[in-house]
Amino acid sequence: MQYNRNMEKMKTVIIGGGASGLFLATALHTTERTVLLERNDRVGKKLSSTGNGQGNITNLSASKTPYFSSSPFGKKLSGDIVKEADENGLKEAFQDLGVLLSADDRERVYPVSRQASALTDALRFAVSKRGVDVRLSSRVCDLKKVQNGFVLTVEHDGETYQIHTENVVLCAGGKAAKNFGTDGTAYEFAKGLGHTITALYPSLVQLKTDVAYTKTLKGIRINDGGLTAYLPDGTQVALRGDIIFTDYGVSGMRCSVFPRISRTKSTQACAC
Ligand SMILES: Cc1cc2nc3c(=O)[nH]c(=O)nc-3n(C[C@H](O)[C@H](O)[C@H](O)COP(=O)(O)OP(=O)(O)OC[C@H]3O[C@@H](n4cnc5c(N)ncnc54)[C@H](O)[C@@H]3O)c2cc1C
Repeated sequence: MQYNRNMEKMKTVIIGGGASGLFLATALHTTERTVLLERNDRVGKKLSSTGNGQGNITNLSASKTPYFSSSPFGKKLSGDIVKEADENGLKEAFQDLGVLLSADDRERVYPVSRQASALTDALRFAVSKRGVDVRLSSRVCDLKKVQNGFVLTVEHDGETYQIHTENVVLCAGGKAAKNFGTDGTAYEFAKGLGHTITALYPSLVQLKTDVAYTKTLKGIRINDGGLTAYLPDGTQVALRGDIIFTDYGVSGMRCSVFPRISRTKSTQACAC
């Protein structure tokens, strides 16, 4: 599709059609002259892969779970957010969109269909029903603050065009899982608008291990297990969480206790 080569005038532009951008588009008071720009050829690519493709949207005890941050501000902020938007609010919001949910014996909440794509589809239909102009394969490559709003440069089909908007909402995700469209450009946009970006650390990463012993365990899962990792520099680290053995080592361990763990280094691991 060709878009206006002259400067388009919008009221609100949402950058990113992931979980936050789609949810926001369903919740806006008005969708008048609202456009959602998504660089991928479909929305919700990452959302559709969450929870091993089953969509673990929350936990029945989510608001009681302790949240961590390296700064007191971050700790307070995450606590305030969870208090404001607890697990019940999220469950009700998805149920209003027609997604039936159920919890497993570990209080993890999923769509009854156990398909994360059910979450994406429900949001996609709701956004379309609200008349939001969703533009796929549309990458925002520049964002500037101007008088009375913002100017965005959008790349689509190898060409660029510009949009002037009164409001812009940055829902372009973080830096995790680049293959889903999130390469960290959101941080650059935020920085360009005067926001401060704190240091970034991987917090839930794969551990690449010496596979001599773990290769034969591929596919085995240990719920809430303990693991001791010996890093190449000789450091020993104890980790807890769900352990899934893979052909490269161990998948998805929380390493908030040790942010220096790199996903590229070869690590030895033993689980218990
Ligand atoms: C493998 C995996 C499993 C996960 N499992 C779970 C789980 O079970 N439960 C859970 O709660 N969370 C899970 N998460 C985390 C969860 O997926 C994220 O917290 C959530 O998707 C973040 O939503 P978001 O809208 O902020 O960002 P994203 O979903 O990343 O969406 C951002 C969107 O912005 C688009 N975008 C980026 N830059 C631009 C640009 N310049 N122009 C236009 N579009 C742009 C991207 O293409 C992307 O579609 C998982 C994450 C991964 C990677």
